[in-house]
Amino acid sequence: DQDSTCSVTVVGASGDLAKKKIFPALFALFYEGYLPKHFTIYGYARSKMTNEQLRDMISTTLTCRIDQRENCGQKQEDFLKRCFYHAGQYDSEDSFKELDAKLREQEGDRTANRVFYLSIPPNIFVDVARCSSRAASSSNGYTRVIVEKPFGRDLQSSGELSQGLAEHLSEDQIYRIDHYLGKELVENLSVLRFSNLIFEPLWSRQFIRNVQIIFSEDFGTEGRGGYFDNYGIIRDIMQNHLLQLLALLAMEPPVSLAAEDIRNEKVKALRSMKPIRLEDVVVGQYKEHTSKSGVSYPAYTDDKTVPSNSITPTFSCIAMFIDNARWDGVPFLMKAGKALNDKRAEIRIQFRHVPGNLYKNSFGTDLDKATNELVMRVQPDEAIYLKINNKVPGLGVRLDRSNLNLQYAERYKKKEFPDSYERLILDVINGDKRLFIRDDELAAAWKLFTPLLKELEEKQVAPELYPYGSRGPIGAHYLAAKYNVRWGDQSV
Ligand code: NAP
Repeated sequence: DQDSTCSVTVVGASGDLAKKKIFPALFALFYEGYLPKHFTIYGYARSKMTNEQLRDMISTTLTCRIDQRENCGQKQEDFLKRCFYHAGQYDSEDSFKELDAKLREQEGDRTANRVFYLSIPPNIFVDVARCSSRAASSSNGYTRVIVEKPFGRDLQSSGELSQGLAEHLSEDQIYRIDHYLGKELVENLSVLRFSNLIFEPLWSRQFIRNVQIIFSEDFGTEGRGGYFDNYGIIRDIMQNHLLQLLALLAMEPPVSLAAEDIRNEKVKALRSMKPIRLEDVVVGQYKEHTSKSGVSYPAYTDDKTVPSNSITPTFSCIAMFIDNARWDGVPFLMKAGKALNDKRAEIRIQFRHVPGNLYKNSFGTDLDKATNELVMRVQPDEAIYLKINNKVPGLGVRLDRSNLNLQYAERYKKKEFPDSYERLILDVINGDKRLFIRDDELAAAWKLFTPLLKELEEKQVAPELYPYGSRGPIGAHYLAAKYNVRWGDQSV
């Protein structure tokens, strides 16, 4: 609608996420022409800042993509002119009233749509929801609120947070962001499954032997240990990002691509999961390591913001099962860790052995080497590839493992992919909730993980130490072996 306006208020504008991700994403949307003609951006935080100071701060992080260098400077100037700042407390309705007056000035008599992006610590989410909804809601358009993780620490605290927000906002106003859902490959997971004939018929226990969902970082918590120590890798990565990938991968075909249809299927998949057993879990923590060249890397507990006796896991691997007709007995192995030898996020689907394989002698005794594997690499270097067996050209019959390979950088040359925050913020403006977490979905995710987290804490389970930069604790191999699984990311 040409006559409506949209304002995005970034609450916590002085923070790291706002600077690194939110303002650059808003600028990219502006550059591409995705923002409405009349838009306003407000930064809101306690720090004292003038409009000019906010603009200076933002301008250092705005970038144009390679194919957009033309008039980049002019566009940045145009964008910054639409950015303003309001200093205020998070729990003060008066401050939000002042913001409301300033927003009205920009909006004039047009239909005014408002988005509030809560880029703040979670203990003040409810305050801001209260004050913004009471004092700065739009009177004639929509008011939507984006919330960043963490959504609680367990089922109870997450429920309290949901309830707190629900007192001031309706569920359809709340957009719980999980930036993994904004990634190209994750959106493509559904396209791959449901728009190709050749995958969906194989997508079950009948043909799939195991599924691996892997996340690794090649650096530790350096500097962010204080935040991390209160959460640990299971809450920080597995309960949200990796579980979302699992739900999308395992769900039944939705009735349509509408948000509620997709989210209904995800919730069903999550609710079908078997409780996690402690014996199906490995936890690890990285320790100091000095490389051959003499470079030394710190232990997790060397981080000054971390208690020296912390047993918070920086690594975990979990075998999970889905108790439904499609997936009965198929191990879903999730693995996530910091300070490992590699940096990646990927899904690996290992298929069963070919029954009565005519070529079995070509693989020696190791038939595992002959199975097909579908890999979706979410980051870095987005790719989808399928491992197949192939005849080596020549007179004899010798087989070789080869990849049918779709590497995005090759196929989609010169295209820089939008950051996930761009896609997700645009979805909020357009009211598309497909890629956001619904309240019952969040509750199902916490219901699955909370008993395990409690048990780990009550039993004070000590993490297995692994050297910084290594492949992680050996326990991950034993756990996989228990279910006849070999980690696809570590085969030579
Ligand atoms: P941040 O820099 O720690 O905080 C953002 C702003 O909130 C600060 O500039 C500060 O602004 C205000 N603030 C900080 N601590 C506060 C406190 N104890 N009480 C009241 N206000 C406080 O956080 P961030 O890294 O930008 O992240 C924002 C949110 O996104 C957090 O919930 C975080 O967990 C989540 N998140 C961050 C990332 C990331 O990459 N950084 C990734 C995923 C999720 P003023 O002092 O000026 O008011």
